[in-house]
Amino acid sequence: MRKFMTALIPFAVILLAWITVSQAASFNDAVHAVIVVLPFMIAFMALFMSVWYKNSRFFFLTVFMLIAYIMLNIAAAREAMLVEAVTEISILIPINMIWLAFIHERGIITSYGANKAIIIGIQFVWVLINVLGKSNDTSVGLVNPDQTMPIPAPAIVLYVLAIGFLMLNYILKIQYVYMVFISILLATYISLHFAHRPVTLAIFTSSVFIIVVSALFEVSYSLAFYDTLTGVLSRRAFEQELAKLGRQYCIAMVDIDHFKRVNDTYGHDVGDEVLKMVSSILKKLSYRARTFRYGGEEFAIIFPGQELDEVVPVLERVRKAVERRPFILRAEDRPKKKPEVITGSSAGRGQLNITVSIGVAEKTENLKTPMDVVKRADEALYRSKSNGRNRVSIWSN
Ligand code: GH3
Ligand code: MG
Ligand code: MG
Repeated sequence: MRKFMTALIPFAVILLAWITVSQAASFNDAVHAVIVVLPFMIAFMALFMSVWYKNSRFFFLTVFMLIAYIMLNIAAAREAMLVEAVTEISILIPINMIWLAFIHERGIITSYGANKAIIIGIQFVWVLINVLGKSNDTSVGLVNPDQTMPIPAPAIVLYVLAIGFLMLNYILKIQYVYMVFISILLATYISLHFAHRPVTLAIFTSSVFIIVVSALFEVSYSLAFYDTLTGVLSRRAFEQELAKLGRQYCIAMVDIDHFKRVNDTYGHDVGDEVLKMVSSILKKLSYRARTFRYGGEEFAIIFPGQELDEVVPVLERVRKAVERRPFILRAEDRPKKKPEVITGSSAGRGQLNITVSIGVAEKTENLKTPMDVVKRADEALYRSKSNGRNRVSIWSN
């Protein structure tokens, strides 16, 4: 739910920009003067935050958009220059957005960062040369002040392809970053139509930078509250959630059985994949439960407002789901030494059978704090382990 809401924020920003634009005619000159420098101020904030969080994707996105904005302002001196600038920038934006949406995080002040800066720099030197090439072209009537600027057909095609491609990735991976890029494409597409109106251009360009700033806030939030490997909530989120619990709740602790052997036999990478597989099952267990990575290969699940009778069948289902889900090993993951873990074999492919042990405790009068409930759940988990693993144990007095 939260993910869905955050994906809407960029579009709310664009809507707000649109409303501001519709009111812009009534603003006086002083307000207009402020609006025109607004993109620079917000871009500065976006740059500062992206350096702070070492986010090269949003850093170079901001750099790109800022230079594009400056180019459009330079080109505004002559109609022919402006048409040239809009033509080139409208083609470059979708290409660069697709590129930046898929780059790997390799730092800003590194050789990788320098390469990105050079790629962007070359593009704009090219744009500048072409734009300045039109500086003696004094033809008028190319831009109709009462209409929007035309966007060339190839650019429209690129925009449609880029948005479609990002949309597909969003649907497949449900990653917020794709929505951010889609909304930025939308905002720039609108703004290019108004490149001949400085105030409108400034407002939509500001919206692009506001989207980047809000995306960076979201990134910093995710860093603190989500586990990067498994995508479930983090230990920190767990501790915050404990503080908010009411009178009735259950807490379960889930621990992967013989996980050390998986690591020792197949390597850490396979171990990581197993962790992801188990968390993907835990994530989907119930809409009334929240899963956290407690540490290592141990997960905690909070069931707010629920009793043991409701929770235990859910946990049994989870245990069975993990037991039944085969973990298929790729050829290169085959063990270097003789496997200690029970492996099945289907059509010659190695298969790993993973199980989990679970302990669960309910909040009662005797247990004063949520941490006490966690401790009891841990004791129950320990019983599951000593009784042979792959089972759910309930803590009782
Ligand atoms: P038990 O059935 O008693 O739980 O045995 P176990 O081997 O699962 O338990 P143990 O606590 O001895 O080992 C946990 C291992 O989990 C040790 C550690 O190397 C591994 N581990 C912790 N975090 C990660 C991780 O993020 N990735 C990988 N691959 N391994 C991890
Ligand atoms: Mg374990
Ligand atoms: Mg453990």
